[in-house]
Amino acid sequence: MQLVVASQNQGKLKEIRRVLADSGIEVIGLDAFDDLTVAEEDGETFHDNARKKAVAIAEQTGQLCLADDSGLEVAALGGKPGVYSARFAGEGASDQQNNELLLKKLAGVPDAQRQGAFCCVMALCTPEGECQYFEGRIEGRILAESLGSQGFGYDPLFYVESHGCTMAQLPLDEKNRISHRGQALQKLVVAVKSL
Ligand code: IMP
Repeated sequence: MQLVVASQNQGKLKEIRRVLADSGIEVIGLDAFDDLTVAEEDGETFHDNARKKAVAIAEQTGQLCLADDSGLEVAALGGKPGVYSARFAGEGASDQQNNELLLKKLAGVPDAQRQGAFCCVMALCTPEGECQYFEGRIEGRILAESLGSQGFGYDPLFYVESHGCTMAQLPLDEKNRISHRGQALQKLVVAVKSL
């Protein structure tokens, strides 16, 4: 079975490819197609954005398409950056700029109030616009300084209590076993296998 994955985020693609490696599902990236128009991520929820991204590519390629919308929700910031995680510090912001802004906004906030959660919604959509959703969530704490060099995005600031380290200090397979994206993908594999 072939699945087009509607993402240009290399960090996400690497994780998705690894989880699906032994599943019999062949992941095809957007670079396999010419002239695709990627949907704008202007929805208010992870569901809206995941659906928009998947349906746009499924319609253009005529193939089953998977899209991930994910982000970090920080309680002390009222759930922000949420759907704005990729562009928290502005359109086209780098991971480092986003992390710096997060640290600035949380300056002076004590450890006990630095809870955050990574959330992921995956939409698996047909060219006709029928979608199935798979979700994952992992709780953690936002550190006051970066630790680790694996992963991407906010991983170096996201401390996982159960493992005693940040997400960026975990090997990829361990991150995939526990992460928001890994959880959603594991549900997707079960659903695809039962088709
Ligand atoms: P989008 O789903 O492309 O809108 O962007 C997701 C953004 O959320 C990424 O650019 C990261 O900033 C953040 N994010 C999502 N998943 C992860 C993760 O596994 N680790 C670190 N940051 C993440």
